[in-house]
Amino acid sequence: MSAISDITARAPLVDPFQRAITYLRVSVTDRCDFRCVYCMSEHMNFLPKKELLTLEELDRVSTAFVERGVRKLRITGGEPLVRRNIMSFFEAMSRHLESGALEELTVTTNGSQLQRFAKGLHAAGVRRINVSIDTLDHDKFKAITRWGSLDKVLAGLDAAQQAGLKVKINTVALKGVNEDELESMLRWAHGRGMDMTIIETMPMGEIEEDRTDQYLPLSLVRARLAQALTLEDIPYKTGGPARYVEVKETGGRLGFITPMTHNFCESCNRVRLTCTGTLYMCLGQDDAADLREAVRASEGNELLHQRIAEAIARKPKGHDFVIDRRSKKPSVGRHMSLTGG
Ligand code: SAM
Repeated sequence: MSAISDITARAPLVDPFQRAITYLRVSVTDRCDFRCVYCMSEHMNFLPKKELLTLEELDRVSTAFVERGVRKLRITGGEPLVRRNIMSFFEAMSRHLESGALEELTVTTNGSQLQRFAKGLHAAGVRRINVSIDTLDHDKFKAITRWGSLDKVLAGLDAAQQAGLKVKINTVALKGVNEDELESMLRWAHGRGMDMTIIETMPMGEIEEDRTDQYLPLSLVRARLAQALTLEDIPYKTGGPARYVEVKETGGRLGFITPMTHNFCESCNRVRLTCTGTLYMCLGQDDAADLREAVRASEGNELLHQRIAEAIARKPKGHDFVIDRRSKKPSVGRHMSLTGG
């Protein structure tokens, strides 16, 4: 590659709509120790190991993005903390925090492994984590996650807070399942010093259930919460798509992520890397770039940087999720567990 094209290929990442790409979400595995009904089918076919990027390859790709201006790295999955040796990846990424290149290293987890890993995460420089919990009712928790244990997750939360990690709770709003619990969950989260974000279900991947049965618009959730609590819009941002309110009665923050009822694409600053090295420029679109091939083609990173630049030049303006009552087909064929929620 010539010197000039090399410089172009390593320039900060800006997409065709002048959005700077500063946030990379990395799904380090498609596997999970839960089988949440809205996320996975009970009998998922997982990827063979050779298709996965090794931890060293994940390091190469993530580092390439950090060199190009990514300031926030979120590790997700599947369940990221079930990937073998995953702490060595967090430890490796912590060098970018130490150098100042990276502002934040964080993780989204179901909490099942936090008793084991909370201290290690903190030692690697992680300061905030997202823990996904959809209910505090033991039976419902079993029903939603199929395989999960609420007690284990709650013990994980204790461990995380003891280790000094700031926790945000992510809850998917599920019609007829947890809608009656959202207010009490919010009070519980805020009572423990944790922010909470409520998420609309997105039509991703084939599952056993009918998505139109699960979908609960957050406009309705918000209106209901507002009958019991004072919600004040605030400009707080975490780099994600959530819109926040402050709950006057609790002093805590509540975020709403509304891919279905509100399009938040105009400020999108992120791209997503799957565990196989596929880069998705939009959660809700199928276009992708194969970075694994670029990584495996040579030991140097020139081709990788070139592929990244080409991919960002194709980042679409936005997504168009529809939960279609007639076709019942998901808008996007892949599951969230592959792209990384
Ligand atoms: N295992 C980790 C966890 O539980 O947080 C990380 C991966 S999980 C796919 C990330 C988030 O995506 C979770 O909060 C999960 O509830 C959410 N999620 C999964 N499928 C979804 C869907 N179809 N619509 C909305 N949220 C979904």
